[in-house]
Amino acid sequence: MNDVLFQGIGMTSRRTRDRLISRLREQGISNEQVLVTVRDTPRHIFIDEALSHRAYEDSSLPIGFNQTISQPYIVARMTELLLEDGPLETVLEVGTGSGYQTAILAQLVGQVYSVERIRGLQEKARKRIQQLRFRNVMFRHTDGGMGWPDKGPFDGIMITAAPEQVPEELLTQLKVGGVMVLPVGDGNSQVLMRVRRTGDEEFERETLENVRFVPMLAGTVR
Ligand code: SAH
Repeated sequence: MNDVLFQGIGMTSRRTRDRLISRLREQGISNEQVLVTVRDTPRHIFIDEALSHRAYEDSSLPIGFNQTISQPYIVARMTELLLEDGPLETVLEVGTGSGYQTAILAQLVGQVYSVERIRGLQEKARKRIQQLRFRNVMFRHTDGGMGWPDKGPFDGIMITAAPEQVPEELLTQLKVGGVMVLPVGDGNSQVLMRVRRTGDEEFERETLENVRFVPMLAGTVR
């Protein structure tokens, strides 16, 4: 990824993006590869034009269908947690949304499989990812609670909508040695969790900071 992506699509100054990165550093993000990727990824592409002037603020923003693009801090944090044990070849992302987190992952892992329950969002995200010329992303319109069994098991799974409990089906689609990062909880109280599959039937769970995500819902929307 380089500055060419910023040309002709609303050049956002390097200084504005550097400011965002300093802020993420202050908040404790320390993986340099993640920081550079966030700095160099054009977030304004993933937001409607009316809001794109706010693309490099550290806030979540509406993307339609009652959903939001995650705050850069949380995208960086979840990505660094996912990658902490080393590089990953295959990653399942549940909750494509705008496709911004997908674009970050596409630059840091081998292959991304991204699923979204709302077709309208999935189609927009697919176009954006094509526009950025990433060739290592596959999309599917489905209820992510089912995962993507044909493509699994995965080295990593990232869920960007909050289920009330860790989805059992998705644990079965994690490789032994694999890692899942997700928010868990109800509308009022959610925590970020990391689950490592340490054996066939063995999982290690860590509970991290409080977070706020839209709920993970069952079924699909046309
Ligand atoms: N990472 C995205 C987050 C979008 S919000 C971004 O930054 O843009 C969470 C997304 O999860 C929404 O688009 C919502 O429709 C989707 N979602 C919720 N439940 C889901 C499910 N069961 N399967 C797939 N996607 C789901």
